Amino acid sequence: MTEYTQASWTDEDGDRYEPLLSEKASKTVDIEDSPLPDDLTRDSLELPAPAEPELARHYTRLSQMNYGVESGPFPLGSCTMKYNPSFTEDIAALPAAAVHPDRPDRTVQGTLGLSHRLQDYLGRIGGMDAVTLQPPAGAAGEFTGIQIAKAYHQHNDDDRSEVVIPDSAHGTNFATAAMAGYDVVELPSGEDGRVDIEALEAAVSDETAALMLTNPNTLGLFERDIEHVADIVHDAGGLLYYDGANLNALLGRARPGDMGFDVMHYNVHKTFATPHGGGGPGAGPVGVTEELAPFLPDPHVRQSDGGYEYYSPDHSIGKVHGYYGNWPVLVKAFAYITRLGDSGLADASAKAVLNANYLAQQIPYEVPFGPFHHEFVASAAPQDAADVAKGMLDHGVHPPTTKWPEIVDEALMTEPTEGESQRSLDQLAAAFEAVHGESDGTLAASPTRTAAGRIDQVSAARNPRLSWQALGSDD
Ligand SMILES: *Cc1c(COP(=O)(O)O)cnc(C)c1O
Repeated sequence: MTEYTQASWTDEDGDRYEPLLSEKASKTVDIEDSPLPDDLTRDSLELPAPAEPELARHYTRLSQMNYGVESGPFPLGSCTMKYNPSFTEDIAALPAAAVHPDRPDRTVQGTLGLSHRLQDYLGRIGGMDAVTLQPPAGAAGEFTGIQIAKAYHQHNDDDRSEVVIPDSAHGTNFATAAMAGYDVVELPSGEDGRVDIEALEAAVSDETAALMLTNPNTLGLFERDIEHVADIVHDAGGLLYYDGANLNALLGRARPGDMGFDVMHYNVHKTFATPHGGGGPGAGPVGVTEELAPFLPDPHVRQSDGGYEYYSPDHSIGKVHGYYGNWPVLVKAFAYITRLGDSGLADASAKAVLNANYLAQQIPYEVPFGPFHHEFVASAAPQDAADVAKGMLDHGVHPPTTKWPEIVDEALMTEPTEGESQRSLDQLAAAFEAVHGESDGTLAASPTRTAAGRIDQVSAARNPRLSWQALGSDD
């Protein structure tokens, strides 16, 4: 087992503390006359004033106190933290990739052409007829997709009040359906962790607007009866929504459109190697079948005489984002897909599945369901999954997603991704092994070798201090 200690610094009292930039060096700047009203202006402003090397060192130190996919393995199941190759950054930084969004169509034909190709690539990957690039995240894609389904039903004078969602689904599915004004019907998973057909038949009715499904589901299990599931929902007049946040097992092998799905979102930041974490930015394009295409958000890119243009689809649900989405993120996804090509994408999904299955074989924890694809859910029981996660940090790896889905006791949802080598998978397995053998006391005190110790997560969630100005205050 390799030793790991994360960088950390202490203040004069020996407490672990890295000062804020403004604490290191600051200066007061007087504000000259301003054309703004007095009550909107101030007389002076305190600004950080480090010398340039101090500034560079400050951010380097912060990065050393952090852990990322370039520090070591990061097997966060469902959230997918795959390595983002940096050539895509160079492409997104090309001057031509950053055009002003107010420029007329005819002056930004390259931008529109790239959008059109990316719409087309994603459509081909998902088996969808039309794709919008606008939604800025997976959750925003879900919301857009369900709005499209709703607009479609309303257009057909078919008011429906329910969305059916399996209990293993991502929390955003439930939130999406509720925010779109639907009653959520929760579907209990079957004994094998998949959709229970009898339960589905009982849940679906002429009130069903859509079934939202993830496949392979969050347990990494493929819904083998997907065509039957699609028939049940379609026969009741409902639509099939595919949560494609994580397409890592399907790339180049199977397509939601061919399984009977009508509408789906893609998370380019989980599948197509654009960065995420810390709140974004990501992108959650939405694909639909031909029948749903008239409801896509405004504007949409299409081919025109000799070029490309923006237009508003006939029954568009309207705007879902300022301008055209998180453009640089989309350029990175385009660069990634283009570089890999069909065979590279299929190779990525093969390796993602191989890596998950290899790792599952190496770890000492029970994996209750299978066979699985790009991720697996182990059970930490009788240990506490949160303690296992904190303990793994001390062994220099990022832990899996914990305590979800709830159908597995003390869940450790693990997704190594295709990028990891056998050597780093073995490093992960060794960390699982070490933590498995540790006492509850040691685990409860962990992590001890990281820049920050165990955080009071409840207070952090209930009483967040989002500004340095709140430091030291109790409210
Ligand atoms: C991450 C994820 C989402 C939400 O995507 P965001 O970009 O985080 O909003 C939805 N469904 C599944 C299965 C996910 O893993």
